[in-house]
Amino acid sequence: MLKSRSIERAGPGGCDIRHFPRSYYAATIDQTIDAPALQHDAITDHCVIGGGFTGLGAALALARAGQSVRLVEAGPIGWGASGRNGGQVHVGWQQDLPWLERRLGHAATSAMWQAALAARAHLDTLLDLCDDRCDYRPGLIHADHRPGAVAQTHAHVAMMRDTWGYRSLTALDRDGLRAAVGSPDYHGGSIDMLGGHLHPLKLAMTMARAAQSAGAVIHAHTACTALTRTTGGWCVTTPHGVIRAGRVLDATGAYARALVGETQSRILPINNYIATTAPLDPAIAQGLIANGAAVSDARFVVYYFRMTPDHRLLFGGGETYGTRMPRDLAGVVRPHLQRIFPQLAGVAIDHAWGGTLAISPNRLPFVIEPQPGLYAANGFSGVGVVLAPWLGDAVGRAMAGEANPGYDLVRRLPAPRFPGGVWLRWPTQALAMRFMALRDRF
Ligand SMILES: Cc1cc2nc3c(=O)[nH]c(=O)nc-3n(C[C@H](O)[C@H](O)[C@H](O)COP(=O)(O)OP(=O)(O)OC[C@H]3O[C@@H](n4cnc5c(N)ncnc54)[C@H](O)[C@@H]3O)c2cc1C
Repeated sequence: MLKSRSIERAGPGGCDIRHFPRSYYAATIDQTIDAPALQHDAITDHCVIGGGFTGLGAALALARAGQSVRLVEAGPIGWGASGRNGGQVHVGWQQDLPWLERRLGHAATSAMWQAALAARAHLDTLLDLCDDRCDYRPGLIHADHRPGAVAQTHAHVAMMRDTWGYRSLTALDRDGLRAAVGSPDYHGGSIDMLGGHLHPLKLAMTMARAAQSAGAVIHAHTACTALTRTTGGWCVTTPHGVIRAGRVLDATGAYARALVGETQSRILPINNYIATTAPLDPAIAQGLIANGAAVSDARFVVYYFRMTPDHRLLFGGGETYGTRMPRDLAGVVRPHLQRIFPQLAGVAIDHAWGGTLAISPNRLPFVIEPQPGLYAANGFSGVGVVLAPWLGDAVGRAMAGEANPGYDLVRRLPAPRFPGGVWLRWPTQALAMRFMALRDRF
């Protein structure tokens, strides 16, 4: 029997599983999802565990394929990383194409790039389901904080254009970058107009509604407390009912610390923090980011920020590697925010929250089938807004028996475990990450 031991219930930092964290996103959705907790036993073809982008993508694909599917989510829908992230829409993988080419060869890298573009196109189909397109705005700036890195960024832009035919990416010199971003910290970079930013909790809600309309049954506030193999399928135990399913997807992101060991040994949970200021005078907001784009910098512990439609600066910065969140989350983010925008010293912070993301050893997502009828998809390593809905869709289609090149591609990627396995991965990896984070300071 596989057991889930540590879904957060009432931790510091607003991480009570019964409610959304006190985030800007939770404060700006108009409706939640009607998804009553499971109160009885049920039988279904497929059960998805986890109501984030991955699980919702799979449930939507399964329902559209005419399969019976139930999704269980321990908290409200979108409670995990999917409803708390920076909302930055990155095109591509966490590793760049030269890195992939060195390890996987040209043909596989080409397939990976096509898949990244397909994932971005898939996101558009989901945004089309939402009246306000989940507040989507185009433009994602990569900002270099080291003057010496700018030439490398510009070489990358040229390589993407000349080798891969990608023309949405443009180089920004120092003046171009500073005209777009009112920070003394940056020296140049690039802007990707196929990238952008959105309201991630609205996206999760949109996906959940679409899945329900297609026939999926969604149970919020329903934690899977044990997963057991039975003859011909799986038994998903929850506090008030057992679901018997032929196939199960573990889509629990970084939040189910011990549900499926084969997943857990391949991910490291990392906490990252975001704050939003009070609404700013539109002229001041315009001076911070002039063109409405999102910004993400080149630090190992990346700073990422953007304006919200109501002129707040939404700023992500700071990371911790334990299981606990700090109490004063605004206090964690403020020094990072003021480092980039000294002109905002003392600005009022209205919302601050933390979230946990799952990184994999090679920073690529993985799909595994550790036992017959059991699937797991995870390890988006900080770039799941585009990739997780797409990979969820791909896994859902595969579970439904549809031929699926996206699924086959990710299934063939190396999916290494962290050295030390489920428990011993912590000390060495956290030390390595702290070392890399320290380098950002110099
Ligand atoms: C602070 C932060 C900022 C980020 N910024 C960005 C960004 O700007 N751009 C980007 O591309 N990516 C970003 N990411 C990463 C992105 O959010 C994730 O890659 C993506 O949301 C992963 O989706 P998921 O569905 O796999 O996991 P999650 O969204 O975490 O969903 C997993 C769900 O499973 C549920 N669960 C866990 N255990 C159980 C159980 N036993 N029973 C039932 N339910 C369970 C959890 O409650 C959770 O809701 C960020 C992540 C964080 C935390």
